[in-house]
Amino acid sequence: MAMIWCNGFQLTMPDDEDEQPTAGHIAILSSTIELIPFRHLACLRLIEARPRRGHPRRGGHDPSTRTIRLNRNIFSSRENDPLNQTFLHELGHLVDRAFGVTSFVRRLHTPDAEALLNTSHTGDTNGAGERIADCYMHYIVNVLAGIRSTNRAYQDGEGERRFRVLLASPAFTRSGSSA
Ligand SMILES: [Zn+2]
Repeated sequence: MAMIWCNGFQLTMPDDEDEQPTAGHIAILSSTIELIPFRHLACLRLIEARPRRGHPRRGGHDPSTRTIRLNRNIFSSRENDPLNQTFLHELGHLVDRAFGVTSFVRRLHTPDAEALLNTSHTGDTNGAGERIADCYMHYIVNVLAGIRSTNRAYQDGEGERRFRVLLASPAFTRSGSSA
């Protein structure tokens, strides 16, 4: 197992160079990490780049070890340039777990909260937590990096109403993590 530092975080990868992310992929990951809100940095400790035939097939996360796992294949997909959106989605899950975002949003019962919880999601897993992780990813990409989403649910007013819910959650209103 090879290990390098990526913007303050350990990034492990297979020894086989063909299974490692390229220097360009690592630069994108590094730029992505720069966008993480300071209060969320403690939710992450380790990033693992996994071989193409390994698990997970795309991205995965483990709150107990604050680890994000990324399959080698996702580094080459279009949505992960110029920012690694798969990484941001997985970080969204870790932030959700640390700050209880999903349970907060579920208790709101406002039209904006319902819109967020009913946003369509494409992925292997489903449920409210996937919507929260997507919203977190879109917030970083759209608002913090200023890159307009191609997803209609995150354009203009539709995006703003969903981001308002996220920003009202403990992940943005409470400092420090309870994890
Ligand atoms: Zn997910």
